[in-house]
Amino acid sequence: MKSMPAPLLLILACTGPTTAREDPAPERNPPPNILFLFTDDHSTAAISAYGSRINRTPNIDRLAAEGMLFESNFCTNSICAPSRAVILTGKHSPSNGVRDNRDRFDGTQETFPKALQAAGYTTAMIGKWHLKSDPTGFDHWEVLPGQGQYYQPDFRTAEGTQRYEGYATDVTTDLALDWLEHGRDPARPFLLMCQHKAPHRTWMPGPQHLDTYGDTLIPEPPTLFDDYSGRSDAARLQEMEIDRHMYLHYDLQVPPLDPDTEPQGPDRWAKGLVDRLTPEQREAWDAAFAPRNEAFREADLQGAELVRWKYQRYIKNYLRCIASVDDSIGRMLEYLDESGLASNTIVIYSSDQGFFLGEHGWYDKRFMYEPSLRMPLVVRWPGQVEPGSIQEFMTQNIDFAPTFLEIAGAPVPAEIQGRSLLPLLQGERPEDWREEIYYEYFERGAHNVQPHRGVRTQRYKLIHFHELDQWELFDLEADPEELRNLYGLPELSGVQADLTSSLHQLHKNYGEPQGKDGAPQQGG
Ligand code: CA
Repeated sequence: MKSMPAPLLLILACTGPTTAREDPAPERNPPPNILFLFTDDHSTAAISAYGSRINRTPNIDRLAAEGMLFESNFCTNSICAPSRAVILTGKHSPSNGVRDNRDRFDGTQETFPKALQAAGYTTAMIGKWHLKSDPTGFDHWEVLPGQGQYYQPDFRTAEGTQRYEGYATDVTTDLALDWLEHGRDPARPFLLMCQHKAPHRTWMPGPQHLDTYGDTLIPEPPTLFDDYSGRSDAARLQEMEIDRHMYLHYDLQVPPLDPDTEPQGPDRWAKGLVDRLTPEQREAWDAAFAPRNEAFREADLQGAELVRWKYQRYIKNYLRCIASVDDSIGRMLEYLDESGLASNTIVIYSSDQGFFLGEHGWYDKRFMYEPSLRMPLVVRWPGQVEPGSIQEFMTQNIDFAPTFLEIAGAPVPAEIQGRSLLPLLQGERPEDWREEIYYEYFERGAHNVQPHRGVRTQRYKLIHFHELDQWELFDLEADPEELRNLYGLPELSGVQADLTSSLHQLHKNYGEPQGKDGAPQQGG
């Protein structure tokens, strides 16, 4: 049992009824604090607690060792802004109004931070917001404008914009720690959403990790040279290949040979990014990249060897960005330990979607295939969650909001489409838990990924690229890489019919905006 802080005892003694000498008021645990650590585009394949073959993440691993790792957690729509809107509202994209990155989040709708604020929490949002409208439901917010910058990031508040010297992951961490130490109301439980830009494109490593991984070779995924045979046209139509669609300068930090020529398109933008570095940062940057860029140019690689080189440069910079994120998580956990907050604080680590780390020859996300569908989710909650536990039930980002509401003791509105994870966190195995998840991607976007919707069970996945009217069916047990489309196979006709029927029902439930009563909105 925790003892009450002295000032609170004093207040109770002064205000309590004078006759109340018989029984002291029963001690209640104060509602837990919620620390939501969130990143952008972090694949579970780059977290050692999830079995990464390519890197180590000691601080995320610590969270998993002290908490629960969700091994089947999925997004509903694998793209940045939509995933964030789903998390805030507990609703699929059509119902929260953010179907793709062009949509603006309507901040007047119900969100879990607003509900927590109403339930007495002090709330803050620091880092990458990416929803166009100003954050609502926060006592304090300080966010990157749009995608933000890795170096010398600008941060926006209701009062204006301020530029900080340093690396975005470090600055975001500093601001979050500063709010915990000086900004929050310590008399109330807190919700802190600490959301990093990293490891989003354009993968610029921080000063501490410019040379991490050095010249070691990172293992390639087995499908790096996928030929897309045996699948729908969508796999061939995409424009997200390391081979054909990755820019040497913008994505891989290889500047044009002649700095006086004005680079076009994304290359021009990349030049601006490096120009943000201070002279000291630039010196460290050039020391790390210039000799390797020179060797690359001299080697004049072609074909598969060029793809292999690009993969190495890409994945190392991506992992270097994650190394800074992991350092940041270590700093946050240390602060919780030192301040005594750790025992009553739930710590969550997650990212807005997964990412292709060379699987199928790709970078980026968007597809319902496993690497981009999976979201990391690790939750530490001392005294409530069994340390080192693994959660197998299928969960989604629609479940985050109702979980936080239930934890805070706030009502869960009927219109919420997710389900609280509280029973799973407490080790229960609910018999009526969902056996399938719904997914829908709405735009073609920058990478020409065809709009699609699908359903996934523990074993199978059915995808309908509805504008192409082409279907894919995968047996995830027999074919975890999703290389063999089994749609139309007579042996699976029963499975296919069941999944098709599920998909139609799920699309009916979630594919159109739903009103407060759970029924479709008219003219919405
Ligand atoms: Ca993202």
